[in-house]
Amino acid sequence: MSLVVTTSWDDGYPADLRVAELLSKHGARGTFYVPNRNAEGRPVMGESDLKRLATAFEIGGHSLDHVVLTTLPLDEARRQIEGNKAWIEGLTGRASPCFCYVRGRYNAAIAGLVREAGYTHARTVATFSPLVGDKPLEVPTTLQLYPHAKLSYAKMFRRGDLSFARMRLFGAALAEGDLERRIERLADLSEGLGGCFHLWGHSWELEELNLWALLDRVLARLAARHVKFATNHEAFRAH
Ligand SMILES: [Zn+2]
Repeated sequence: MSLVVTTSWDDGYPADLRVAELLSKHGARGTFYVPNRNAEGRPVMGESDLKRLATAFEIGGHSLDHVVLTTLPLDEARRQIEGNKAWIEGLTGRASPCFCYVRGRYNAAIAGLVREAGYTHARTVATFSPLVGDKPLEVPTTLQLYPHAKLSYAKMFRRGDLSFARMRLFGAALAEGDLERRIERLADLSEGLGGCFHLWGHSWELEELNLWALLDRVLARLAARHVKFATNHEAFRAH
């Protein structure tokens, strides 16, 4: 079985441009989920940078203000979703088919608003999945580029299905203490168990923990094994 590798990067933090440079260096692809502003206080890249990013990568929706949509009245949640989509598409001149739920929080009503806004796919923060799955508005990921503690992994595991494949990936994540080797191992397992490895992260965390060299090495090794790199939408719609 061949392996599709997709990556996604949330929040539009200016260091996303550094992620983009590394992805380009290795011929990797990905999707950047960008809010207009970040109510949590982190900066968001300027419009000219976003436009430039959109020439090489996919830009996805992440709400106007980076707010948890399930906490809002539905009219305000709709405004957050639709206003952000219109802004991205107006700025980039391209359709934006994928959305990412802020902090991974959603429910049936929010998923409905996302679909009504014209999104075909939405990414969650569900972890340890080696495949895209059959729910386009609840697409899981494989692993976050962040050295989570084992207890955090256990909590993440409980928030998903109890399939054999997920159990295997969860077990491997616990067994492998080193983040770089953990990524390698989960990519190996994804190849056999589902065929899609989805790595996601926040560039502000890469900066805080200085994970740049690690990302560089991870991408180099994936490129060397001739995986098929894809944006989120390319990976999602193929399944
Ligand atoms: Zn976010």
